[in-house]
Amino acid sequence: MNYIFPKLKQKFKNDDFISEKIYYLVDKLTNEANLEKDEFLYILNNITKKEIEYLFKASYNIKYTYYQNRVYLRGLIEISNYCKMGCKYCGINYKIKTIKRYRLSVDEILECCKQGYHLGYKTFVIQSGEDSYYTDDILIEMIQRIKKEMPDVRITLSLGERSKESYQKLFDAGTDRYLLRHETASRRLYNYLHASFMSFDNRRECLKNLKEIGYQVGAGFMVGSPTQTNEDLVEDLIYLKELDPHMIGIGPYLCHEDTELRGNESGTLSESLIMVALVRLILPKVLLPATTALGSLHTIGREKALKTGANVMMPNISPTENRAKYEIYQNKICTADTSNQCRNCIEGRIAGVGHVIDLGVGDHIDLERITDND
Ligand code: SF4
Repeated sequence: MNYIFPKLKQKFKNDDFISEKIYYLVDKLTNEANLEKDEFLYILNNITKKEIEYLFKASYNIKYTYYQNRVYLRGLIEISNYCKMGCKYCGINYKIKTIKRYRLSVDEILECCKQGYHLGYKTFVIQSGEDSYYTDDILIEMIQRIKKEMPDVRITLSLGERSKESYQKLFDAGTDRYLLRHETASRRLYNYLHASFMSFDNRRECLKNLKEIGYQVGAGFMVGSPTQTNEDLVEDLIYLKELDPHMIGIGPYLCHEDTELRGNESGTLSESLIMVALVRLILPKVLLPATTALGSLHTIGREKALKTGANVMMPNISPTENRAKYEIYQNKICTADTSNQCRNCIEGRIAGVGHVIDLGVGDHIDLERITDND
């Protein structure tokens, strides 16, 4: 099995080897925003530390062209850790018996939004395990109440797979965006990482439906999951280029010892950042979060992502008492902080790497222009 970045690890020890071909491919990618499959694979199989620096600079420059050093903030509310799905890597999947389950009422969610609004956030990301408690009617009430009290905000839902009819109703009620990570574009890897009742095709169908309805859509994938190969990661790049989502969340696989994938190595920061950089280059205007998983993997993982090409951060505004229970992976950061503390911490981290907070709604840049022209 060709495990992830085998040659990369080997060549870290010998930085003298610089291949002109990688510089050529990075330049080509910068100019054309695409490469052939075998060219992506060549980069992943052969890139060295010095070439990584070159790739990261190219990616940062592209981000700067469209978004400069601005970082959009989204207030994240984890509304329930009940989940009926069986993602084998996830610490809140339906089989896990070691966590205490919780869910927030519409009143509690609204309270979190008000606190976030007070802190200046203009986007709320409402995230949950796949919890059937949240029927369309409950969610519509939630969306309408948020929009009535705070009409100038954007609502992002991240509630998993639902029917097209349900997505349509939630959109009609005022939802602006929907995040649904595809997790992996490799059918083999998807089937390995998920329970047999879950469907690779349905996940893709959901993303297609969301785009057709008119949402700003977010996809995304894990880096370094067990058995993942460089070929699998190239599939992610090809799929994302084709799907052309507005947002892409990239996080390292972080091993959770209560799951059936216990004992596996987690993904690494360098591998994840390389994928952040490549995604920035294939979709130059995409919204790319510096994910909490990157911050959980490395103390300055999120800052490094900003320096690489990310332009979004998601401070947590969930009730502090529930945060540790939303343990999709272990050693998650920010679980003991209040919303205020998260805001201050993130502000400091952003400033520390020469970036500035943008408290606008943070739409994809092409949509901003449409709104301006209207
Ligand atoms: S990753 Fe999401 S859908 Fe999968 S088990 Fe965890 S919470 Fe549920």
